[in-house]
Amino acid sequence: MLLTISTTHDPATDLGHLLHKHPLRVQEEVLWFGKVRIFYPEASKQRCTAAVVLDVDPIGLVRGRRRSAGDGTLGQYVNDRPYAASSFLSVAISRVLGTALAGRSKERPELVERALPFEAKLAVVRCRGGDELVRRLFEPLGYRVETVRHPLDEAFPDWGEGPYFTVRLAGEVRLKDLLSHLYVLVPVLDDSKHYFVGEDEVEKLLGKGTGWLETHPAQELIARRYLRHQHSLAQEALRRLVEDEGPDPDREHEAGQEEESAIEERLNLNEQRLAAVLSALKTAQARSVLDLGCGEGKLLRMLLMDRAFERILGVDVSSRALAIAKKRLHWERMPPRQRERIQLQLGALTYRDERLAGFDAAAVVEVIEHLDRHRLAAFERVVFEFARPRCIVLTTPNVEYNVRFEWLEPGKLRHRDHQFEWTRAEFHDWSEGTARRFDYRVERLPVGPDDPETGPPTQMAIFTRS
Ligand code: SAH
Repeated sequence: MLLTISTTHDPATDLGHLLHKHPLRVQEEVLWFGKVRIFYPEASKQRCTAAVVLDVDPIGLVRGRRRSAGDGTLGQYVNDRPYAASSFLSVAISRVLGTALAGRSKERPELVERALPFEAKLAVVRCRGGDELVRRLFEPLGYRVETVRHPLDEAFPDWGEGPYFTVRLAGEVRLKDLLSHLYVLVPVLDDSKHYFVGEDEVEKLLGKGTGWLETHPAQELIARRYLRHQHSLAQEALRRLVEDEGPDPDREHEAGQEEESAIEERLNLNEQRLAAVLSALKTAQARSVLDLGCGEGKLLRMLLMDRAFERILGVDVSSRALAIAKKRLHWERMPPRQRERIQLQLGALTYRDERLAGFDAAAVVEVIEHLDRHRLAAFERVVFEFARPRCIVLTTPNVEYNVRFEWLEPGKLRHRDHQFEWTRAEFHDWSEGTARRFDYRVERLPVGPDDPETGPPTQMAIFTRS
């Protein structure tokens, strides 16, 4: 099992100080399931790579233990444990790189808090869920992800692809965050823990997830898989993740928000929506983006992680929402280069605001349904006439889909704050009319499963200035 961590930070050999492992020595440690070695295949000022090689001993693992039900004898001896990254790698990380994982460095304490250019490569990962899952887990954390899928057997190409991938992650992160991400997410990819999952696993998950799991869009999947599908433990972890966000005075709005997300949760709609919006913004090659009604900053976070977006402005009428967004974005300790790219602003979208002009694109995600109908015309002018970016990506619920939400009372809207929810025909008419009036072209796309009867849960319109 092989993990390499490289950096091009100058001088790259600082990696040795950060990992507490000397670049000129091979270090070895014996753990209960095998041996772990750390050494540096390259260590120059320009680039330095540390390799963590874990030799799992599959025979030693089963020797002297009772055979577990359903696990055939052969399977105990012939398996992928020696090669494929799994929870054993997490254990090895915490054992041999524990100091770096905890964010301590005697010689370079100032570097611990700095995001540096890192690249991590997992030579082989067995990933139930494919390339898509790898991206879903690592991209929201700001990594560029590359995967190579391996054939089942190179000698027999007809057998097709196997479940094994090589995964490369690149990004500007703090080393302790990179190690925490790997610690939690490698077992999530592998989805089968090889050791007992108990209460203290919840502590491990919350401890290592501090600062990123609270806002990760795939938080639920991560908790469920990390805790190996133990429903009660996953529930407890999720509850505590939410509690950690702190008490909330704006009960009314938030209660509504929770209802809405509970209703939409099983579809994972929020994630799909943000991914669709992000992809539309990228297709438009936008470099400066307005997030109008940015709320608690989920999209802002994704925009910030993608360096293609050079200037980002989030606007919301709720100071409470902006405060939460700041907290989620770790505003206070944001590296200066990121901080230069983003601004947050309190403001209503129904009043003309000069600061909104001059952007390539605007995202208006799940916002218009919160506006009074009679304020809609003012909103249209503010966005389409005065801000006038060349691309506007807007989403809103499709009310026809509501019958598919089992938990939603018939006739009720998804959120108590919603002033209206439109049918597909209503959205069609509004978007066509608005495009015509302000000289934009418009294209509508479904987000979420496109039900043959009701259409998709979310409707998205992409307006492009003619
Ligand atoms: N776009 C975010 C939030 C959607 S919730 C997301 O997808 O997660 C709707 C947001 O619109 C809320 O944060 C609310 O405060 C904001 N909002 C409602 N009316 C507004 C107005 N007139 N001007 C600016 N923001 C508004």
